[in-house]
Amino acid sequence: MAQIQRRKTVTATIGGVRVGSDAPVVVQSMTNTDTADIPSTVKQVAALARAGSELVRVTVNNEDAAAAVAPIVDELDKQGIHVPIIGDFHYNGHLLLTKYPECARALAKYRINPGNVSVGRENDDNFRTMIEVAVKNQKPVRIGVNWGSPDSALLTKMMDENSLLAEPKDAREVTMEAMVVSALNSAALAEKYGLRADQIILSAKVSGVQDLIDVYRALAARCNYPLHLGLTEAGMGAKGIVASAAALGVVLQEGIGDTIRVSLTPAPGGDRTEEVRVGQQILQSLGIRSFTPQVTACPGCGRTTSTFFQEMAEQIQTYLREQMPLWKDRYTGVEEMKVAVMGCIVNGPGESKHASLGISLPGTFEEPKAPVYVDGRLFTTLKGDKIVAEFIDILNEYVESHYAAKVEVAAK
Ligand code: SF4
Repeated sequence: MAQIQRRKTVTATIGGVRVGSDAPVVVQSMTNTDTADIPSTVKQVAALARAGSELVRVTVNNEDAAAAVAPIVDELDKQGIHVPIIGDFHYNGHLLLTKYPECARALAKYRINPGNVSVGRENDDNFRTMIEVAVKNQKPVRIGVNWGSPDSALLTKMMDENSLLAEPKDAREVTMEAMVVSALNSAALAEKYGLRADQIILSAKVSGVQDLIDVYRALAARCNYPLHLGLTEAGMGAKGIVASAAALGVVLQEGIGDTIRVSLTPAPGGDRTEEVRVGQQILQSLGIRSFTPQVTACPGCGRTTSTFFQEMAEQIQTYLREQMPLWKDRYTGVEEMKVAVMGCIVNGPGESKHASLGISLPGTFEEPKAPVYVDGRLFTTLKGDKIVAEFIDILNEYVESHYAAKVEVAAK
């Protein structure tokens, strides 16, 4: 697979997780519990971390939330969950970080939105206060611009200047430029107030795919801070997943982006960890990182009138996902395994040969047998009603025989 050339940046460290340059692109998520509800927040952070989130952000929106942060981090530590916790601050971060120093110490990073801390305005040093707390505690900061809450003074000034030009740019172009300038100006101010360049991460979140591509290309060209990517308010279900994948895919392919978050709106009562799996899948689909074995399944067509192969593909996908937490500690490289589950002989044997192991089920009116390929060669042919169980046995043997090095190394 062609290698993506990552953009060179300074490298930041967030609670032990390296971010930027050649460090792996990190998957981040955010809780949607009331941070002040310590048991619920701990439970959700734990679930996100177990799903593979490498950084978890919580909102710190009021005094109760600020007071809850250190106990949350303590409880997670007790449970053996050491994922770095990031505090998301708006409007009152300067007050909360100074009144609750244990919160400032417990967090691994602060996220500051320049649009609502009045960066650069006279007699308003909220931003400066937050940066000084970060410097005192040696914490990195993400300066996160969001077009839903831009620096309105800067945007108005740039719109006014634009209107005086002989050929004014359109409003969208000026808005995108204002976001880039807001992020860069805020970063320069943060450095002036004592933060090191390798303690700064930038983001400029927008909700349109083309806007995201433009704004991140511009940011990437004009600084060497690590960049956090995400399509803000991506939306629900397929729309949110597809829009995020389309936007992030383009910029990641250009080597831009050091951490990512997929901002999905869960269905009521839905699973918050879905955003982690989608983020991982975007990176794995691009060949940037591997997280879990991949199942290649054909879409099915009129040649497969039963749902048997769909059920089998789902059972195998679920089995792989459930095994990964156990496998990843025992088997080296198992996340790169590829499994093909195909509906008939038209493409089945061919696709199976390209996978680590693959099965080609009988299509309608085909002989009721399922050839299994291992490392490109016909291994066996399964028949009868225990095909799934027998294929999973072959899968387990494959994992043990191909990826068991980690156990042996650990045992020496
Ligand atoms: S492999 Fe067979 S069942 Fe699957 S889509 Fe192709 S022709 Fe249809």
